Amino acid sequence: MIKPIIVGNWKLNGTKKKIKKFLKLLSLFVKKYNPKGTIIISLPIIYTYIIKNLSIFKKKKIFSGAQNVDNHVLGSFTGEISPNMLNDMMIKYVIIGHSERRFNHKETNHIVANKFRLLKQENLIPILCIGETKQEKVDNRIEEVCIKQIDIILNTCGTHAFDNSIIAYEPIWAIGSQNSATPSEVQYVAQFIRQYINIKSNYKIKNFFIQYGGAVTNKNVSELISKEDIDGFLIGRSSLEITEFIKIIKLINI
Ligand code: PEP
Repeated sequence: MIKPIIVGNWKLNGTKKKIKKFLKLLSLFVKKYNPKGTIIISLPIIYTYIIKNLSIFKKKKIFSGAQNVDNHVLGSFTGEISPNMLNDMMIKYVIIGHSERRFNHKETNHIVANKFRLLKQENLIPILCIGETKQEKVDNRIEEVCIKQIDIILNTCGTHAFDNSIIAYEPIWAIGSQNSATPSEVQYVAQFIRQYINIKSNYKIKNFFIQYGGAVTNKNVSELISKEDIDGFLIGRSSLEITEFIKIIKLINI
């Protein structure tokens, strides 16, 4: 992984036609500008085959991500997809613990930790989403919430769990809103997360990155990326339109 690492999370959006057009324009851009970071596109799983056929995918200029995975390996789990199936389909990066899954699908920290464990077993790269609600921010509990979401991973997978992994710090109140956290707020939390994980791993952590997610646009991305502990972004809305997405890549790849 080379930073900055940018993940476009398409959620439940797109059609075959729209996605093909988006990827065609992204391919042209990547071939022309050869951006130096890591670009990951997390489409609805049914459309990920479109990425696999691109020459920029074969040349590892962009990567395919999943938005979720099941916490079982195989068996009677209708509608689910397992870590080894993702591996089989060359989908290397997997978002887990997104707040929309935690809320809409009642995913607990325990379930998320089990998913993390299974992804590591398959040598896949988890993008673990953590972050506080508005009320938890008001109550000054940001560190406490992050620690809880991190500790369960460390307790399940060991002190080196975060080797070769990404944490996406996503304040829940910022996701899908007009209000990003300020660059200094994000830097404060990102630095806290890095220090916490460094201490827990005895400063032996390797290939660990911290992203920010929540209302990132071409207007705020330059100042956010200038902060020392922000290694990239998990982007929802702004990843759906190719002109906006390219603008963001250009701004963070200077
Ligand atoms: C997200 O869903 O992870 C996200 C950050 O969304 P948005 O960029 O739209 O706030």
